[in-house]
Amino acid sequence: MPLTNTLTTFHIHVPVRVLLRYGDKRLGDIVTHPEGAEGARKELREMQEQGIIFLVCDSKCNNRKPDGSCAGHAEQDA
Ligand SMILES: [Zn+2]
Repeated sequence: MPLTNTLTTFHIHVPVRVLLRYGDKRLGDIVTHPEGAEGARKELREMQEQGIIFLVCDSKCNNRKPDGSCAGHAEQDA
C-alpha cells in the first residue's frame, strides 16, 4: 500500500454562491480586487458561468479540481 506515511492536506475553499451573499466588508476580508467588492462580485459571477463552484482562499494552491476546489496536496514524511 503506497499510502503509508502520506498526509494529504487541503486548502480551505468557499462556495462562490456564499461569497456572493457576503457584504462588502466581509467579502473584502477574503477576496481582494482592484475594483473593490463590486469588481470581485463581477469576477465571481464570471467564474460561476464557467462552472467554477468554489474559490480557494490561497493563491498558492496549484492543484485545483475543475470546480475550483482544492484537490489536496500529498505531503510525504521523509
Ligand atoms: Zn490546494
